[in-house]
Amino acid sequence: LDYHPTGRHFLQIPGPSPVPDRILRAMSLPTIDHRGPEFGELGLRVLKGIQKIFQTKHPVVIYPASGTGAWEAALANTLSPGDQVLMYETGHFASLWNKLATRLQLKTEFIGLPGVEGWRRGVQAHMIEERLKADTAHAIKAVCVVHNETSTGATSNILAVRKAIDAAKHPALLLVDSISGLASAEYKHDEWGVDVTISGSQKGLMLPPGISFNALSPKAIEASKSSKLPKSFWAWDEMLDINKTGYFPYTPNTNLLYGLAEACDMLLDPAHGGLEGTFARHVRWGEGVRAAVKAWGLETQCIEATSHSPVLTGVVTPEGVDADAVRKLIYERFDLSLGTGLGKVKGRMFRIGHLGDCNDLTLMAALSGCEMGMKLAGIKLAGSGVAAAMDYFAGHPAPVDLQK
Ligand code: PLP
Repeated sequence: LDYHPTGRHFLQIPGPSPVPDRILRAMSLPTIDHRGPEFGELGLRVLKGIQKIFQTKHPVVIYPASGTGAWEAALANTLSPGDQVLMYETGHFASLWNKLATRLQLKTEFIGLPGVEGWRRGVQAHMIEERLKADTAHAIKAVCVVHNETSTGATSNILAVRKAIDAAKHPALLLVDSISGLASAEYKHDEWGVDVTISGSQKGLMLPPGISFNALSPKAIEASKSSKLPKSFWAWDEMLDINKTGYFPYTPNTNLLYGLAEACDMLLDPAHGGLEGTFARHVRWGEGVRAAVKAWGLETQCIEATSHSPVLTGVVTPEGVDADAVRKLIYERFDLSLGTGLGKVKGRMFRIGHLGDCNDLTLMAALSGCEMGMKLAGIKLAGSGVAAAMDYFAGHPAPVDLQK
């Protein structure tokens, strides 16, 4: 790998996000015996800490796997072959989860707005309500939605989905992917009545990739007792049992758990406003970045005012401009990584991450790289997004206790 002799690389993709030094140091401790006495303490500490991050009193399962594994685990533990599942298309990640469910032999129904319309908004909860009301026989066993669609930059209203299921008086489970939302965008597993929340380490939690989560509800645990999809590695039963003492049924990702303990302390630190402070900081960064996009005269991929993501912003490049060529130029000239357009929007947009470990100046640097690169690529910008973002950040200071 290249050594960067001229300052640090700017990793501004929407995950993996930069890992703070404090977490890197925590992870550098020696790997310990995962069946020894010290490990149990670490296990109990992280299992308790992560509950606070999901805002749940119920168990959270930790897998040594990427988010995709936790997607599979959520389905495999709650459903049986041939079960009907209602999934909502918000973008590329919703589509990948739908593909995964199909491969597990579930009968998926993928609803959403036509074309790329649905890729510019959050979940339209009324469509879920209408579909569930029509399912009078209650054949649909689960509703699956993505909280923060990382491919577009739209965050869905999960409470509205909960209310839609309740309004239809439907018993389906609610499974939510908050792989990129958790710990940067507001999320309340218990209060929002979610049955399984899926998340990963490499986004808002500021950790490297490698661990992922299922946060459970009592109803999900009950469903797991009669679920018939084959599972062993992903099975919750042994995991929940052994987790009671802080241990795991197989070798856990010890050093990432050191990092997780540190990440929980950082995110929950009352000196910086705790979780509410964290969410408020990301909302403000999203606003600053959108001020830049507006000043450039460009569109954001998300066009629904209530759904703009505090995690990332998708920037649509003008007609005829290949967004990936612009990204490549920015990477090569300014050592700045931006997210690529995925699936239906490949080449049409790039993504700026403002999740995890961020501050005003990191974002100013990222926006400067974008602006210089777009100009070099021949894009006629309406004005300076960098100037607009500077004005926004200078003019909207975060409350003192939320600044870090
Ligand atoms: N879901 C969402 C919303 C994501 O952003 C990602 C990864 O970016 C995934 C699922 C897949 O997770 P992983 O790549 O960790 O397997």
